[in-house]
Amino acid sequence: MILKEVLDKSITFFKQRKFETPRLDAELLMAYGLGLERIQLYLKYDLPLKEHEITKLRELVVRRSQGEPIAYILGKKDFYKSTFLVNSHVLIPRPETETLVETAAKLLAKACKDLEDLELTKQTLEKESALSVLELGAGSGCISISLAKEFESVCFFAVEKSDGAFAVLEENLKNNPCENLKIIHQDAENEKEVVAACKETKEQFDLVLSNPPYIDKEDENIDVNVKKYEPELALFADQKGLYFIESWIAKYSPYLKPNGYFLFEIGHTQGSELKNKMLGLNLFSEVDTLKDLSGKERILFLKKKWNKNG
Ligand code: GLN
Repeated sequence: MILKEVLDKSITFFKQRKFETPRLDAELLMAYGLGLERIQLYLKYDLPLKEHEITKLRELVVRRSQGEPIAYILGKKDFYKSTFLVNSHVLIPRPETETLVETAAKLLAKACKDLEDLELTKQTLEKESALSVLELGAGSGCISISLAKEFESVCFFAVEKSDGAFAVLEENLKNNPCENLKIIHQDAENEKEVVAACKETKEQFDLVLSNPPYIDKEDENIDVNVKKYEPELALFADQKGLYFIESWIAKYSPYLKPNGYFLFEIGHTQGSELKNKMLGLNLFSEVDTLKDLSGKERILFLKKKWNKNG
């Protein structure tokens, strides 16, 4: 069989199974199995495939047809401006999470600019004044690494408790070296240990952000393959999915600078309940939610008050 025949058969197979992107999936698997770039497939349609290559491709197609996410089969996923290694210990980076990164990038760009203006007027350019950002539950590291690459003058700390996920985080940092990112193998619930691990640079954060586990354990709408393949630890939370969001806001707000920000990814039905709860805390001068690209409420945006009175 030639490449084009195997490709077409795979596409048909995926179409019959009502896959959303049959051609893309088939091309990605084919390229991966043959060690080619996807674009090269088009130039090699007539390539005769060897028996062992066909067997390998068949195995990949079977794995995919059983529901295994493409990213786990390929072992990588493009996110924002980089590619990240992934395996079943980490959540696969989602496009919704790019909205979180973009929002953080806008805040940081503005904060860097303000700091520069301030330092120019003061004629001091001390390293001490670098901004600092903490990410809770970093998983693959897609959020912190994306931001650390873009903001080299900002200090980033990324916390991850799972051993398996931390190994992936280390690997991703090795592939995307950023001296301004320190990774911390710790449970974000232990805020004192986390802050102590960050202390060598600074104790108060300009921004604390997270894509926490926020799916309600009782939620019946969750995709079967997400549940089957992705790590439970990264997905689910008690208290209708709100446990970590509320716990981490309570635990880290003392370590957020006045006028500092929290950015949390949230479930699209959790916005109003969270906003009400956050307003009730009387800690924040701004409490808002932002939408993702598909128009769903996806980010909780909080700005800490300058002082207790506002
Ligand atoms: N920060 C990682 C991501 O956004 C992991 C998040 C998680 O495991 N809940 O993909």
